[in-house]
Amino acid sequence: MIVGGGVIGAASACFLARDHGASVTVLERDPSYRQASSALSASSIRQQFSSAINIALSQAGVEFLRRVGVELEVDGQRPAIGLVEAGYLYLASSAGAPQLRANHALQRAHGADIELLTPGALQARWPWLATHGLALGAHGVRGEGWFDGPALHAAFKRKAQACGARFVHADVVAFDVRGNRVHAVREAGGRAHTTDAVLVAAGAWSAPLAAMLGLALPVHAEKRDVFVLDSPARLTGCPLLIDPSGVWLRPEGRGFIAGAPPRGSVADDAPLDAIDHDLFDAVIWPTLAARIPAFEALRVRSAWAGYYEMNHFDHNGVVGVVPGWANAFIACGFSGHGMQHAPAVGRAMAERIGNGRYGSLDLAPLAAERLQRGEPLIEHNII
Ligand SMILES: Cc1cc2nc3c(=O)[nH]c(=O)nc-3n(C[C@H](O)[C@H](O)[C@H](O)COP(=O)(O)OP(=O)(O)OC[C@H]3O[C@@H](n4cnc5c(N)ncnc54)[C@H](O)[C@@H]3O)c2cc1C
Repeated sequence: MIVGGGVIGAASACFLARDHGASVTVLERDPSYRQASSALSASSIRQQFSSAINIALSQAGVEFLRRVGVELEVDGQRPAIGLVEAGYLYLASSAGAPQLRANHALQRAHGADIELLTPGALQARWPWLATHGLALGAHGVRGEGWFDGPALHAAFKRKAQACGARFVHADVVAFDVRGNRVHAVREAGGRAHTTDAVLVAAGAWSAPLAAMLGLALPVHAEKRDVFVLDSPARLTGCPLLIDPSGVWLRPEGRGFIAGAPPRGSVADDAPLDAIDHDLFDAVIWPTLAARIPAFEALRVRSAWAGYYEMNHFDHNGVVGVVPGWANAFIACGFSGHGMQHAPAVGRAMAERIGNGRYGSLDLAPLAAERLQRGEPLIEHNII
């Protein structure tokens, strides 16, 4: 039984049904996925993390995305997710350069193909980029870029269903337990679904469910705004660019999308229709116009917002068995990098539940026990 049918729940269902022959039911309270992070993601993938486990998850992720058509084929139809491997380009001022170098050393040690570039090399590679205030750039040569996240989500769901998984419209409100086992999952209205195992994959809304299992989860629904831009500027070879200020930009279709970290603290579950246009006017546009002079001519075509499932403890996923339970598992809190990690997390969770142990990738570093021990695995590179 899986609670939550976003990309993490759907991927886990897919691998459980496809590779382990498990009988899987996914309980999803909003089958339209209107507010699900998986429907509102910027759907980009990078190797440039500051923790080894995230680099490994992305490496497995991009390998899966490259062969997604074969992996998730149903009745001869191969899903297309439009993977573009144009790289990320992290830019650093002199203050940020030591962290960028440290990250780079870790990334190289784990096999990520990332190059460090001086301001002169940046200017030569991307002549449209203004390099004032920059000391260093880190560019992903391979294995980084972006794709159609909702298409990946839909493909996981379709493949899971083709392998026998059921997706049921249900709002889960309680667990029935016997000793250290969850015996049934109860939906609003009282209907109970008996189960051998339960996986909580409810994204930004996982904390109340975890609390019912005695796990205090510091995962919050934090709104992020994304702006869709039109510009006549043609930025040859434009990667996903991250300015030292945190403002980011990448090509999308014939235009671009951009965003920035929110100013100040964000209330949980802030309304998604309250787009912070001041953030664009006061922060994003001036930063982009200074970094890319061709963006003097720029128009906001539209904007959307979605929730990061932000883990305030250390900005990393919480994955594995729920401490104290024999058959309760969790996979949530990816803090804005869960779309790219869904293939590897889904496969590993299916192995953990189906075989009793991890196989393809050991996700022990993301175990919930670190919360209880007070030992964060901090991911510095969150956007
Ligand atoms: C603006 C934005 C940009 C992003 N950019 C990137 C990016 O570039 N790269 C990247 O890798 N990631 C990115 N992310 C993050 C990524 O989208 C998420 O990490 C990922 O989608 C999380 O998937 P999920 O399945 O855990 O959560 P969700 O997709 O939110 O799914 C959880 C589901 O659980 C359901 N649910 C909740 N409670 C219950 C309940 N009690 N009963 C039944 N169902 C329940 C919800 O309805 C929801 O459908 C971005 C996110 C946002 C918002």
